[in-house]
Amino acid sequence: MQNLDTILKHALEELGGIDDPVELEQAKARYLGKSGAITELLKGLGKLEPDIRRESGARINKAKEAIESVLNARREAIQAISLEKQLALELLDVTLPGRGQDMGGLHPVTRTLERIQGIFHSLGFSTVSGPEIETDFYNFTALNIPEDHPARAMHDTFYVDEAHLLRTHTSPIQIHYMMAHEPPVKIIAPGRVYRVDSDATHSPMFHQLEILWVDEEVNFTHLKGVAVDFLQRFFEKEHLKVRFRPSFFPFTEPSAEIDMGCIFCEGKGCRVCSHTGWLEVGGCGMVHPNVLKHVGYDAEKYLGFAFGMGLDRLAMLRYGVNDLRLFFSNDLRFLNQFD
Ligand SMILES: [Zn+2]
Repeated sequence: MQNLDTILKHALEELGGIDDPVELEQAKARYLGKSGAITELLKGLGKLEPDIRRESGARINKAKEAIESVLNARREAIQAISLEKQLALELLDVTLPGRGQDMGGLHPVTRTLERIQGIFHSLGFSTVSGPEIETDFYNFTALNIPEDHPARAMHDTFYVDEAHLLRTHTSPIQIHYMMAHEPPVKIIAPGRVYRVDSDATHSPMFHQLEILWVDEEVNFTHLKGVAVDFLQRFFEKEHLKVRFRPSFFPFTEPSAEIDMGCIFCEGKGCRVCSHTGWLEVGGCGMVHPNVLKHVGYDAEKYLGFAFGMGLDRLAMLRYGVNDLRLFFSNDLRFLNQFD
């Protein structure tokens, strides 16, 4: 029975030092399990004399109770420790400052349009809009574009059905506006337009801007004055050179292409201007009398000029962007630069 004291001493020492629940259960098995040390002692009782057996049995049971009580105390202690650890891990510091939210920004094309509108509004023009799905009449016929003109071809125009198409330019907005309003007319018409085209400088959807001024005394000098003033203010270059090259459009007569001195090389010649020193910025001209007749204006009494520009092209030139597709790819790394 000296053995029992040793076993009890070891058991209490061992169990008292365990922090791990699995280890604790393994230790329990070594003492109280099927072939545990205490269990073995209990098994041996049968071989003893009745008197000694009773006394020994009582002592072994007392030792067993002592071990069980230490075991239970350890179990509770281990549970409390693991709860504390978990609470420490999941600690939430409510006093930490928040991460903040990203602010949205205007798209570079929108910023460009707002800037352009600011300039034209200061010259007395107002902004108007029109439908993106058009009929053949508004997109072509009213603009004096003949039946056999290549612009009408299927490979240039997105047709919705026999009678409808996605507008290929912003010029039909002029027709809608003039049919609904008497002169004088002084408008800018920005908007999305669509053509079957896609590469680094063309996109199936892009933005145009149309400027129209119709009145009794409007002439080509007004057109030149407005175009030059606009370009110099838009690019913030007081001495920006602008030239007008004779051209042809069905809806204007006479017609011209507008070029401006290259803003990247100051006219010396570079890759952007194909070493010509000039950049094309748009087409213009005096409104064709047939267009005025189509909207019911007296073509003998009224004159007007119109000019159109690519909004995306102006944004590309202003921000030095060399691929149009960047504007429409929704890549935040690109767009964040304009915040
Ligand atoms: Zn250049």
